Amino acid sequence: MLTFEHQFATLPEPLWVACQPTPVAQPSLIAFNDALAAQLGMQTRPDDATLAQWFSGNQLPPGAEPKALGYAGHQFGNFVPQLGDGRALLLGEVVDQQGIRRDVQLKGSGRTPFSRGGDGRSPLGRVLREYLVSEFMAAVGVPTTRALAAVATGERVVRQMAEPGAVPTRVASSHIRVGTFQFAAVRRDESALKALADHVITRHYPEAANAEDPYLALLEAVTARQAALVARWMSLGFIHGVMNTDNCSIAGETIDYGPCAFMEQFDPQKVYSSIDQGRRYAFNNQPGIAQWNLARFAETLLPLMREEGDAVVEQAPEVLRGFTQRFSAEQRRLHANKLGLAPESDHAAPLMEALEIQMHQGRMDMTATFDALTHYAQALRKNSSAHSQKEALLALTTQPDGLTAWLAEWENAQQASQQRERLEAMRRANPVVIPRNHRIQEVIDAAVEGDVEPFHTLLAAVTQPFDESEEARRLAAPATESEQVLRTFCGT
Ligand code: AMP
Ligand code: MG
Repeated sequence: MLTFEHQFATLPEPLWVACQPTPVAQPSLIAFNDALAAQLGMQTRPDDATLAQWFSGNQLPPGAEPKALGYAGHQFGNFVPQLGDGRALLLGEVVDQQGIRRDVQLKGSGRTPFSRGGDGRSPLGRVLREYLVSEFMAAVGVPTTRALAAVATGERVVRQMAEPGAVPTRVASSHIRVGTFQFAAVRRDESALKALADHVITRHYPEAANAEDPYLALLEAVTARQAALVARWMSLGFIHGVMNTDNCSIAGETIDYGPCAFMEQFDPQKVYSSIDQGRRYAFNNQPGIAQWNLARFAETLLPLMREEGDAVVEQAPEVLRGFTQRFSAEQRRLHANKLGLAPESDHAAPLMEALEIQMHQGRMDMTATFDALTHYAQALRKNSSAHSQKEALLALTTQPDGLTAWLAEWENAQQASQQRERLEAMRRANPVVIPRNHRIQEVIDAAVEGDVEPFHTLLAAVTQPFDESEEARRLAAPATESEQVLRTFCGT
């Protein structure tokens, strides 16, 4: 049993509106995350039929008080004053085993007062994609919302074509976004804004409460988490795809996995999302966009900072500029790990820059490259099979001469730091299995036809991302030319 609390409901409306889910025709459980449920304090697992009732919204779990949350947002740079949960409902918060308050949210559970033209539903494909990618992120330690359940509805939703519907249950540190602050700010509702900011400080950034200027400290803390988050994404080749301010979590978690994808062949300008025609959210644009989103956040805090004094307002731009330095520091650390170098190594940055050029020009798969480099580093240390590991690495590029020259420089830098922990950190920084686009598409196609077995197989693999078994290696392989999926759809 989950013990629900409702702290968000102490905030004034219209930050939230009570709303009941719309029942679905035939709920049946596709997946349930037992480990996460246990973390949330669920001692015994109810039977599948009960879980399907609860997590479709047909019969709410005891203690749930569903509400749709209001938010605004900049979508592809254009401000929309009212978005809000158009198909999601917060059931309540659960304090987990570590004492951390978590939101539990249904998505696709029917229309809400914020729905505008939408049907309030979610297509199965989108639900499975989010389940796989968010659970992979959790497995590699990237801050993220989690997937607690997926329930098929037995109904069809019409998008590009009719497809089966599903309701995912998502667990988050909170669903408060930059857009939530924009929602209060655009209404000039200063008391709601202040209540929201104070709620966020208490819930996510308690240390800011003791700072001299709490709202400035809040901006700084959110900036730090976003900078670290985007650096983590990029170290894995992750492209979020819709970094609108309404998809930017104040708690610094990855949220709203729409058309996201992991880059295969390295390309700094890579875009997968079919709707991102201006390439606004291309791989390398992500830090700049995060900083832009934070500037929108800072604007919403101005009325509160003004009360702290003009000097505080004047410091805000400096705090925002601090993003760059924080991002670079985190990236340097991650790059050193990926290359098996000491965190303070001066070689990490130039070596990574040169390797990115090699990966780009040599059409190398990013994940496979770092996996092979890890094997090569391990072989060099053990003094065995280094030659064949080097060959395996060189087989990944169309320009072996360039990579050979790069490897010579890397080996020199690496020799200086051959401790065991370094190799372990390198392994952890370079997953073997990622949820590749074509594999996700494969499991979605099978699930649409009623077969969810491939989904469970892929889920097991991506949540053990350092497993080197034969099955893991099969799922880890980059797409062949004909398997490549180059476009992803929002699939809302
Ligand atoms: P998203 O693309 O999921 O980040 O959603 C952007 C906005 O569109 C949010 O306000 C959603 O609630 C709303 N939205 C997306 N899909 C639907 C839908 N099927 N029905 C109602 N609202 C939706
Ligand atoms: Mg969203």
